[in-house]
Amino acid sequence: MNILHVASECAPFVKTGGLADVVGAVPKALAQLGVSAKIALPAYPALSSLVKQGRILKAYEDLFGGPARLISVQSDALDLLLLDAPHLFDRPGNIYLDETGRDWQDNHLRFGALCKVVAEIALDGVEDWKPSVVHAHDWQAGLVPLLVKMANRQDAPKCVTTIHNIAFQGLFHWSAREFFNIPDHLFTHEGAEYYGQLGFLKSGLAFADKITTVSPTYAGELLTHEFGMGLEGLLQARQSDLSGILNGIDTDVWNPTTDPALPAPYSARNRVKKHNSRDALESRFGLMADPSSPLFCVISRLTEQKGLDLLLQSLPHLVTQGGRLALLGSGTPDLENGYRQAAQQFPGRVGVVIGYDEQLSHLMQGGSDAILVPSRFEPCGLTQLYGLRYGTLPVVGRTGGLADTVVDATAENLKAKTATGIQMQPGSVDALNTAITRTCALFARQKVWKSVMGTAMRTPVGWQQSALRYFELYQSLIAK
Ligand code: ADP
Repeated sequence: MNILHVASECAPFVKTGGLADVVGAVPKALAQLGVSAKIALPAYPALSSLVKQGRILKAYEDLFGGPARLISVQSDALDLLLLDAPHLFDRPGNIYLDETGRDWQDNHLRFGALCKVVAEIALDGVEDWKPSVVHAHDWQAGLVPLLVKMANRQDAPKCVTTIHNIAFQGLFHWSAREFFNIPDHLFTHEGAEYYGQLGFLKSGLAFADKITTVSPTYAGELLTHEFGMGLEGLLQARQSDLSGILNGIDTDVWNPTTDPALPAPYSARNRVKKHNSRDALESRFGLMADPSSPLFCVISRLTEQKGLDLLLQSLPHLVTQGGRLALLGSGTPDLENGYRQAAQQFPGRVGVVIGYDEQLSHLMQGGSDAILVPSRFEPCGLTQLYGLRYGTLPVVGRTGGLADTVVDATAENLKAKTATGIQMQPGSVDALNTAITRTCALFARQKVWKSVMGTAMRTPVGWQQSALRYFELYQSLIAK
């Protein structure tokens, strides 16, 4: 079985969020089931050394305004196909945004070029490799199923589109369709058109053979007006082709018994040395040492989706309850400034690092008692899964994948020893305050807290089960 993944990011090469982790992990997990996979990615500057090591498979004289090459290279046990098109991708900073923080004006061409090249490979293969299924991730890959469909070929591979976050849809002026020769009969309300605009994600959803998203609860939420962000009608129409497959995490990379970012390893059975990480974290964030005070952390994009405007309002309550907070993140300027000010307002109690720091995020998972993820919506979420693995209890909004992966510490679940964290109703400061109060109260009962930690750390969070679900999905398509 040959699978061609298409995405705009892939860990460990280029990452802005959970999408990258998933695209990097799924092919590895499926390789153990005998699946051969390639991953098509843009060759951003971060991948330039890989481009130099690679082999040129194809060359384009003019791909939407400049020359381009398709490069094949292996790295980190992954087979990559890199689209080297300097006029589109050789730009500093964020891979989606220009220096003023706005989407690059030509994002339709940048990711459209990727889709165009991938659609060619999907139909004709590269060298002696041809995909049986093309797996398009998020809006940046959304045109692939449409372009494959437009070729109208009997031998075309099947297409899967995965929604990692429906909030990002890739909407462009209708005239962009001319670059891709999208005919009138496909540029309709049922097809690529979204209220007069060209919708990349919408194209992916309308023309894929199967649609997946990253948790069962989010799959259900997407069918509603509240969460579907305008695409609920299309998804309702395609409900029989939509499924939720829960994300896992790379349990080799996220492993407290071997993590090089921790000062001392610890395990579910021997957790004493979690304290070493805690000490290191306190000094890194300038927090006062206080073993009786639960140390909360946040590792996140700072956006309203993540409910971090609510947390800002809850900070006085968190501190009054005896808690401390270490926050790592970057995002909207008002939230970045708000947290910087909070660190000044609560010295020794609230520590803030604005930025992106993979190493530090590992230390935070190791050294914290609880991780806050008060999202308003969350397709799956990964940081709560790392939290489970590191015995850092997730305190989460009851939505999407957070609802699917964290078992609330109710009296009943505590008694049954199934609890792994705290859940709250999303979207309100009151509910967040209550969740913080509950967490602090649970932390004060150290014997119970430790028992919950044990259950959390033993919860399976790897890819084994979900890889099998993808395998079965691909198989069902190939059998057709
Ligand atoms: P999303 O993809 O919506 O941002 P996820 O929870 O699915 O949220 O994935 C976020 C990923 O990015 C996780 O691997 C998390 O650890 C990482 N991450 C987020 N912000 C930072 C940061 N500032 N520094 C380091 N890692 C971060």
